[in-house]
Amino acid sequence: MKKYKADLLQIAQLGHRVLRRKAKKVKEINNSEVQKLIEDLIKTVMDVDGVGIAAPQVYKSLRIFILASHPNPRYPKAPKMNPTAIINPKIISYSKEKKKDWEGCLSIPGIRGLIPRHYSINVEFTNRDGARLKKTYKDFVARIFQHEHDHLEGIMFVDRVESSKDLISEKEYQKMMKKIKSKT
Ligand SMILES: [Zn+2]
Repeated sequence: MKKYKADLLQIAQLGHRVLRRKAKKVKEINNSEVQKLIEDLIKTVMDVDGVGIAAPQVYKSLRIFILASHPNPRYPKAPKMNPTAIINPKIISYSKEKKKDWEGCLSIPGIRGLIPRHYSINVEFTNRDGARLKKTYKDFVARIFQHEHDHLEGIMFVDRVESSKDLISEKEYQKMMKKIKSKT
């Protein structure tokens, strides 16, 4: 695979129309524009301590996102994985079991939301080499997958809160996490 020099990309913020559009299917994966976009997305998500980023968040309305779970100051307990490009994904089935946990979004800085997500999912997607893969994800990585998949449908995490009381500021979230930590 040819490597491209990656650039940091600007992130669209809540309110921009691109975040509300249904993203278009990627037709050709082995082209320089798509491969460069993948490199840029990976560089950008790692730079801002994200665990995932979707193409619409960088103003590209395409069905591509990056899963990049790794422990960092924003998500200290995130499991470590290699950043993976997910292209034209499909969620085939969901576990009945749902779990609520705190999420943030690079397009909604300063806000966290307690969001219900399916605990595990069976998915299908194309990787950056053009292979169609089937995988099962659970827990935190399944949560990221569902959050990023929502971006391709124009859905933001704030649309999924059960109550507006489940939205809090990043500052209060960090205080809460410190309290939980000191208790355990
Ligand atoms: Zn997001």
